[in-house]
Amino acid sequence: MRILIVLVGRTIPGFNELADKLSRTFKCPVSLELIDFPLTRSFRSERKQYDAGAFLREMGRFSEPGTKTVFMVREDMFSTPLNFVFGLAAADSCVVATARLDPRFYGKVDDGKKAGALFKERLFKEMMHELGHTLGMPHCNDKKCVMAFSNSIADVDHKGAGFCKNCQKALKIEG
Ligand SMILES: [Zn+2]
Ligand SMILES: [Zn+2]
Repeated sequence: MRILIVLVGRTIPGFNELADKLSRTFKCPVSLELIDFPLTRSFRSERKQYDAGAFLREMGRFSEPGTKTVFMVREDMFSTPLNFVFGLAAADSCVVATARLDPRFYGKVDDGKKAGALFKERLFKEMMHELGHTLGMPHCNDKKCVMAFSNSIADVDHKGAGFCKNCQKALKIEG
């Protein structure tokens, strides 16, 4: 297995460090790619949001056997019946919608450095979570486990960045 992270439209400062962390966690190579891709087909003008499922279907052609692909998109996404999602997974691909993970989404930030660190922590958790789904992991009832479902940004901040013991056991990571 390998992980491909596709940054759609923009780079994220300090992102390499997150890719390295994922590589250590999943014990596989992680590569990064930056693409410019117009998201017009998944845009829903009536709600000014992007349909995460439609996006993943459109990006299906990028998928390669043996590769788990994570798309990082800065736009705000939804997936019916949810008003918004931090991410979504379908088969071997997943998307993380970064808009609502950015502290600036919730208002002005006083400490840019602290906000940047928090943003990266959230990105890491959501990448772990969605990659977990691509590996067949369901949601976990342990609120501290990274596989716990997050209904709000408070849930994201409450949970840890790692898999609980049960999830760790269920996850089949080749050594
Ligand atoms: Zn989930
Ligand atoms: Zn768990």
